Amino acid sequence: VTIEPRVLRQFAETVGPSHVLTDADVVAGYAADFTGRFVGATPAVVRPADTEQVASVVAVCRSAGLPIVPQGGNTGLVGGGVPLAGEVLLSLRRIDEISDVDEVSGQLTAGAGASLATVQQRAAAAGWRYGVDMASRDSATIGGTVATNAGGLRVLRHGDTRAQVLGIEAVLGTGSTVSHLGGLIKDNTGYHLPSLLCGSEGTLGIVTAVRLRLVAPAVDPVVALVGLGSVAEAVTTAGHLRRQVHGCEAIELFVAEGLELVCRVAELPLPTARMHPAYLLVEVSGGEGASTALAAALDAAPGVGETAVATDAARAAQLWRYREAHTEAINSLGPPHKLDVTLPASALAEFMGVVGAAVHAVAPGSRTWLFGHAADGNVHVNVTGVPPDRDDVDDVVFELVSGYGGSISAEHGIGTAKRAWLHLNRSAAELDAFRGIKKALDPDAILNPNVLLSV
Ligand SMILES: Cc1cc2nc3c(=O)[nH]c(=O)nc-3n(C[C@H](O)[C@H](O)[C@H](O)COP(=O)(O)OP(=O)(O)OC[C@H]3O[C@@H](n4cnc5c(N)ncnc54)[C@H](O)[C@@H]3O)c2cc1C
Repeated sequence: VTIEPRVLRQFAETVGPSHVLTDADVVAGYAADFTGRFVGATPAVVRPADTEQVASVVAVCRSAGLPIVPQGGNTGLVGGGVPLAGEVLLSLRRIDEISDVDEVSGQLTAGAGASLATVQQRAAAAGWRYGVDMASRDSATIGGTVATNAGGLRVLRHGDTRAQVLGIEAVLGTGSTVSHLGGLIKDNTGYHLPSLLCGSEGTLGIVTAVRLRLVAPAVDPVVALVGLGSVAEAVTTAGHLRRQVHGCEAIELFVAEGLELVCRVAELPLPTARMHPAYLLVEVSGGEGASTALAAALDAAPGVGETAVATDAARAAQLWRYREAHTEAINSLGPPHKLDVTLPASALAEFMGVVGAAVHAVAPGSRTWLFGHAADGNVHVNVTGVPPDRDDVDDVVFELVSGYGGSISAEHGIGTAKRAWLHLNRSAAELDAFRGIKKALDPDAILNPNVLLSV
């Protein structure tokens, strides 16, 4: 997409000349994703400072017929936040103001560009906690987590991002600004725009601010890394823990192959005396009582081999590292196909047992790495050793997932990467409804026209 000098001048008048970036070296960092699988190009990166400036940029783009890709921290994994078809890149990172915490309601308002980690820190400083957490916390923005309805490590305890958002401010594709940031918990006054915009992946509106609900902090958290005899036993144990231990904060899953890679790449010692086929990383809140309940539940669970336990924050962080370092360790092998899927709990172990061989059958040089959020049935299927354009790998995995009654996207969204397979999860009637909503809120299809739906 080429851009007229007149339009660049209009951008500069709106956001200031230093916030319209066109230098090839500078814009390149905005045009490629974290994994290097998705690499695009843009005629301009525009960095507005507030909602009004966002609305003005949208108006300029609408009248010039220029499509926009909104971008936050650029940690998304489905090619939704990079300009793959030469779109204008709208970076929200400058809109990063966070309000004081309302001590009584336990809420705060965050600008779209505030990082997840900053919001967590602001909440913690006021004695509260933000209920969403994930390994990309330092770069991912609140706007991006809303746009993707991010899940992460604590969905089991506090729900996904949608469950935290009480109000939203956004510039729609129509150019109008909707702002409803009062933070009323009960407010049944029609369509719930925060829910609609959560997970809309920048296709309906550009989120500029959100009112977030905070939760009570964990009490004396205890972390246990549990080695098990098989994935099936890990899944059964996760079910036992959810039922028997009240303060379960997180139950994460990885397997021997991934742990071996993590230890090698991140130069970490094996966390248990010997390697086990499967591991659960469990965090419980509630101090001694919770630890006792956890120990009793693990004693009664099938296939538990060894358990490493942390009761202090430093050791807990070390144990978490074995789970969180998976993404960077896998990425060190070259751009992976990252396929984030959900299975019904009853099919999770079987799926994990067969998916690697199924991928290998179509891509003999490949390796499949599996880890995920056990309590949610969410497994990240990472395939390395295949070129980015090998769609047959995605075909095999998604058909398998669909056959088990799972979802082709658990928490990363559809983006551009999974658009061709959306029909596996959504009926023709649902897709028609999606298109109707898109038409109403973004009639000229200028917001992320290549993401989620084919318009
Ligand atoms: C190491 C690592 C670990 C991760 N772990 C998890 C995890 O556990 N759970 C999980 O759910 N995800 C995870 N992710 C994926 C990613 O961090 C999330 O999808 C995150 O929510 C993206 O936020 P972002 O600010 O980086 O958005 P971006 O990558 O910039 O954008 C993502 C999408 O949102 C749109 N968008 C961004 N900002 C806005 C806005 N203000 N208004 C409208 N649309 C917008 C973009 O156009 C794009 O479609 C992980 C990623 C990495 C690299």
